[in-house]
Amino acid sequence: MDKLTGIGPRASKKLASSGIHSVADLLLHVPRRYLDRSQLFDLAAVPLGEEVTVGGTVLSVVQRRISKGRMMTTAAIGDETTVMSAVWFNPYIKIKEGEELLLSGTVERFRGSLQMKSPDIDRLENGESLVTGRVVPVHPSLAGLTPYKLRSTIANALARSQPIGEVLPEEMLDRLDLMDRATAFQNIHFPSAVEHAASARRRLVFDELFRLELSLALRKHAQQALATGVRHNPGGPTVDTFTTALPYTLTGAQERSITEIQTDMASPNPMHRLLQGEVGSGKTVVAVAALLTAVQSGFQGAVMAPTEVLAEQHYFGTVALLESAGLKPPLITPSGDAGTESLFQSAPDAGVGGVRVALLTGNRASTNFVAGTVRRADVVAWIADGTVDVAVGTHALIQDSLSFAKLGLAVVDEQHRFGVYQRVQLRDKADGYVPDLLIMTATPIPRTLAMTLYGDLDVSVLDEMPPGRMPVRTELVPKTDAALSEMHSAVRCAVANGRQVFVVCPLVEDSDKLQAASATAEHQRLSSVFSELSVGLLHGQMRPDDKEVVMAQFKRGQLDVLVATTVIEVGIDIPNAAVMIIEDADRFGLSQLHQLRGRVGRGEHASVCFLVADPSTPEGKRRLAAMVKTTDGFELAEMDLSIRGQGTVFGTRQAGAKDLKLADILRDAETLISARREAFAIVADDPSLSGAPAMREELEVFLGEDAEWLVRS
Ligand code: ADP
Ligand code: MG
Repeated sequence: MDKLTGIGPRASKKLASSGIHSVADLLLHVPRRYLDRSQLFDLAAVPLGEEVTVGGTVLSVVQRRISKGRMMTTAAIGDETTVMSAVWFNPYIKIKEGEELLLSGTVERFRGSLQMKSPDIDRLENGESLVTGRVVPVHPSLAGLTPYKLRSTIANALARSQPIGEVLPEEMLDRLDLMDRATAFQNIHFPSAVEHAASARRRLVFDELFRLELSLALRKHAQQALATGVRHNPGGPTVDTFTTALPYTLTGAQERSITEIQTDMASPNPMHRLLQGEVGSGKTVVAVAALLTAVQSGFQGAVMAPTEVLAEQHYFGTVALLESAGLKPPLITPSGDAGTESLFQSAPDAGVGGVRVALLTGNRASTNFVAGTVRRADVVAWIADGTVDVAVGTHALIQDSLSFAKLGLAVVDEQHRFGVYQRVQLRDKADGYVPDLLIMTATPIPRTLAMTLYGDLDVSVLDEMPPGRMPVRTELVPKTDAALSEMHSAVRCAVANGRQVFVVCPLVEDSDKLQAASATAEHQRLSSVFSELSVGLLHGQMRPDDKEVVMAQFKRGQLDVLVATTVIEVGIDIPNAAVMIIEDADRFGLSQLHQLRGRVGRGEHASVCFLVADPSTPEGKRRLAAMVKTTDGFELAEMDLSIRGQGTVFGTRQAGAKDLKLADILRDAETLISARREAFAIVADDPSLSGAPAMREELEVFLGEDAEWLVRS
């Protein structure tokens, strides 16, 4: 850490433990608000009900305990014009008589006199030189420093870091109406007018987002322009046969996505594309069209999913689609009996247009269907010698011992996980060239997040659901006898009409066992509530065989109600299920609620989702309100981001994203868009940044070891 004048080693250590390791960190510790002393109101003239700051002297203080552990502090505050009262319920309030305070909050009239409830308190030390101006910065407290000490430490750091260098060209600053960096740092900490602080913040936010986008633009350039890819043939017979034979017409979004993907695949540069589409939006067809594009060009395709269940689903989904298109792969069905038969009914070249698909999951041969009928070692050998056209699997696909004869397209299904997974490793399964990469996600990603987390990818969006879906109506059900019994009647009515019902049990923290116990209890309770119906139970602690039996019964309609844990969150497709009940819904996250609701409304029946809850937290209330308001996954994703905050989303290691200190990708969306436009334009023009050495040097410093892909000169 650079020496900070006026700060001893002890304070330095304290700062370090608060995450401040350098002068730069300190400079980025920006005020959370500004007090404008020229805007201070006389108490007698204060407008009621508005956010204001007032100054006054503490005339008297009373603290008393109210109920258990709650402390009420009441103070009389006076200035030359009148007296008001201030009241706090925070046990840590420490004020004394005679003190001068600035209080920020709203003033109300309470029992005839003025009152401020739980105002923020700021103190000004007498004779403090930094705040002789009319604007007082209020920095978030840090390492126990007094506000005055903090302000002077920052002022010091600011003085010592001069001159602060500029990396953006003058022309760009003018065009985007951005102030220079040195002025921005001065103005965000010690503005002479509050408006200057806002423009300063915009400039510093731009810096962060610009660096992030620049790193993404460079990475994209390195991945695409500089690498040798595969020139796939998009116009072959296999894909045409497939699409014309589909039992339905593709949606516009599917057609557009397939065209985008094929255009990328035909180009000599490797594809690097994200396919976004909610559960049920029809991603499988798009992925299969892409896989067949690779196959008809003489290459192999691979599909990697995060879990065995999902891998199996992809496998069966792909095989079913190929069969329906008459591209029936010469496969033995998984239920095939003999253990010695080969994967294929005849020689690998059987059947014109036949596409050979294999499933490769865990290591134990008995854990998956295909390995149940053939030896795992054979599947591995057929992937290596090119007999297998499309390999579907889990992480088993990226283990070192597995090689592909000619991998042309890697499809990675990330489901609803954000972040960089093993996608790149799968692409590394080719020698001497870079295969095309298609990443699929079922989580709608807010546009701003896509520009940051997935910003080096091109994006195709399936924003149109296949026709015939009925929207799901969502209702809040408070836990009152009346509301619950009305919901139970709705269940009986749906079952009488031939429909089926899911009940998702309350979320129990971090324990599958407790979760299973709660599901079992709920199953018992509901079995007596609905004594005339057949009620099944499904949870994660059941034996796999038992789970399958229950699922099969539900599928066949032998169960009316299925009480389940969140095991049903992904991948369950029962078009006859038209009622979803989520118990204690306020405990679930928004994306989980959205996924759960996605289990109904999959057939032609009108469906309803009941959210049973007496939400106790503001976030819980906001989530439920959001669910009732919309079924649009993108809108929910944005709300989720604003409720949770971007910090939780940027959990995974992602170059650049972790240094977003000031930027808020929702609030600063416009700045993000302009930063992205500028960064990509610069890299398109000058991919080695040779014309902007300062910019380049700064990026290297910020990215550290993440800069390895940066174009070397
Ligand atoms: P996703 O993988 O995006 O969750 P799927 O690919 O499983 O969605 O498709 C969901 C359902 O919609 C499947 O039953 C599929 O057959 C059907 N489907 C897909 N595309 C269409 C379409 N264009 N028209 C009608 N049904 C479609
Ligand atoms: Mg290509």
